[in-house]
Amino acid sequence: NKAAWRERLGGTALARSIGSVFSRNPRLDDDLLDEIETALITADVGVTATTQLVESLRKRMKAREFADAQGLLTALRADLIAMLKPVAVPLEIDAGTQPFVLLTVGVNGVGKTTTIGKLAHRFKSEGRTLMLAAGDTFRAAAVAQLQAWGERNGVAVIAQGQNADAASVAYDAVQAAKARGIQVLIADTAGRLHTQQGLMAELGKIKRVIQKLDADAPHEVLLVIDGTTGQNALNQLRQFKAAVGVTGLVVTKLDGTAKGGVVFALAREFGIPIRFAGIGERPEDLRVFDAEAFVDALLP
Ligand code: GDP
Repeated sequence: NKAAWRERLGGTALARSIGSVFSRNPRLDDDLLDEIETALITADVGVTATTQLVESLRKRMKAREFADAQGLLTALRADLIAMLKPVAVPLEIDAGTQPFVLLTVGVNGVGKTTTIGKLAHRFKSEGRTLMLAAGDTFRAAAVAQLQAWGERNGVAVIAQGQNADAASVAYDAVQAAKARGIQVLIADTAGRLHTQQGLMAELGKIKRVIQKLDADAPHEVLLVIDGTTGQNALNQLRQFKAAVGVTGLVVTKLDGTAKGGVVFALAREFGIPIRFAGIGERPEDLRVFDAEAFVDALLP
């Protein structure tokens, strides 16, 4: 598992920015801390989180807790892992809840459709029965894309065509999944409408309508975030959280990015579980988020 993370993330700019500091065999001094600070900020860890990390290292360096730069690196590794551990909480699918309704939300282009396909692949290979709801009725290709994916993989997709009422699609899907005894329902939603307010209102409506059939649904509201968008990801989370109450995150495209450091900023500011990470385009590249594997892939 760790090897796969390293293979996908090891060559990224994010890993290079942090890793290169130590590859030059640095001396244990304030210059080293400055370089670490620059690397972390460049990687979009965020100013607050970076300052906190660097000042804590500085204090311990002055107290002569580290024998050398390598000792400081070991401490940095532990600090980075400690920041992420609280949010590395895997998604638990309650087998007694049928269907377990997973509402996926996120702006266009973040990898939402790809993630739904990867999730479906994962759940199927775990032996679960599942169904998809084509709730992005705004984007022309979204319904067709999901239907094509469902056909290829033998997964039923509930759809009503473009411009249908997304809440009605979701309602139909929950009802169908109940009737057929399906274990997991993954509902897609629009990533863009005419207005941002319109989108948030639609998501709220979908949630309310689903709750008419199951008061506890959706059992997971999964926000898909593009790991390359940097600090913008924080704004997206803020907005979706206010509109529908996000319970879990998927951070995509961590392979090939300089900005994946936003994972630390997200963890620090919100404490919302990061369920999965996208580290490539293949189905198996959606990984359960692993704090140690992630940090180790970034460090030399
Ligand atoms: P949507 O608009 O949010 O549904 O986005 P898509 O699912 O269509 O994905 C947009 C692009 O991002 C596609 O080219 C995907 O292949 C790509 N993508 C999604 N997840 C990942 C990932 O984890 N790594 C990489 N490298 N590409 C990804």
